[in-house]
Amino acid sequence: MAVLPDGSRRRFDDLISHTKEIIQDSCRIRAFVAFFGVLQDCFRGEIPPKADVLDIYGRIVTNSFNIMNEEFQSIGVGLYLQASALDHSCRPNATVCFEGRHCIVRTLEDTELKPLREAFTNARISYCNLLNPTAGRRKILREQYYFHCECEACLEGDTGLEAKKVACMRCPACSTGIAVDEAKREAIKCLHCHLEVPSDHTAGYWRLRDEIIEKIYKNVDGHPEPMEELGRDYLNDMCQFFHPCEKYYFDVLEAVFEVQLNNGQWGEAIDSGRELLVAYQELYPRYDTNTGLLLLKLAKMELLLGKFLEAYAHVKVAFEHLCVTYGEGHPFVKSTVLDLRAEIESEVKEIHKEERQRTKSPQIQNQQQPGAADEKILVHNQSG
Ligand SMILES: [Zn+2]
Ligand SMILES: [Zn+2]
Repeated sequence: MAVLPDGSRRRFDDLISHTKEIIQDSCRIRAFVAFFGVLQDCFRGEIPPKADVLDIYGRIVTNSFNIMNEEFQSIGVGLYLQASALDHSCRPNATVCFEGRHCIVRTLEDTELKPLREAFTNARISYCNLLNPTAGRRKILREQYYFHCECEACLEGDTGLEAKKVACMRCPACSTGIAVDEAKREAIKCLHCHLEVPSDHTAGYWRLRDEIIEKIYKNVDGHPEPMEELGRDYLNDMCQFFHPCEKYYFDVLEAVFEVQLNNGQWGEAIDSGRELLVAYQELYPRYDTNTGLLLLKLAKMELLLGKFLEAYAHVKVAFEHLCVTYGEGHPFVKSTVLDLRAEIESEVKEIHKEERQRTKSPQIQNQQQPGAADEKILVHNQSG
């Protein structure tokens, strides 16, 4: 049993089991049957009736958390009675992080501290990938958690940022993302620089988009790794026409970025990562672990390639994100992030020192070589 910050008590029995929905869910029921078979083998039949086990199974799969390591990779599953009371929103105001197996709920709001009871009651975390458009998020939430999301973002429908996730052309003049209508495919104007987008650019975008949906997403040719392999081939073309906020583009970018990281192709990975960063910064909450960790990866690669000023700019913003989502006292922030920042900082100081010496050096030379200074005076005198 756990006591929530509002004083209420929560037991395992209070969790919803969603048994009815699970029975109708062919995928999950298949997983349950396999799991039940393993239990029977392990305990030689000395287990509760199947219906009771299904009830427990349902409560666990719809209420547990993926325990993430510091790099945000899943390392296990845990059931936390207090944190499981938090509802979902596609526009969350709170997040969850882990310190070992401890689950920590943190607010993302920049406001003054609220009483814990109020903060916990109003806290909403995200159960799904926020880069997905509304329809995709609602589908995942329905399939995995059995509810129809009616959060603020979902109710707004495909407008504003949500529309950009569906279809987003890159303005050929200013690179801003222009949300476009899949059904109408009409001529458009950039709201940022007011360019009437040339018809060949619009046509190029739709042609490439149709081709990518066929080749990569529907995989009509049966390619073994369409996203990674074909995505890499298409990346340069996509970069010209697509804005990273569009799902079809950032899915490819994320897949190719992972391959580039694994292959140690730092230069290419920096280019892909910077494109991804544009989407992350527009689409994720103002402070977000995904954005913080992407910035950190960029900073590490830029440090390796001697791009110290870019690395410094990125590590500073990574620190801001992770101080909010992990907290300043989190071991990852205290060691990994701060160590990296200090390493980059010392390189930047070195650059500044060299610059100062370079700008000082002509004066030093002038002092050391009076002839040069005399010459200047002479020229000045002549012209006067
Ligand atoms: Zn929603
Ligand atoms: Zn523009």
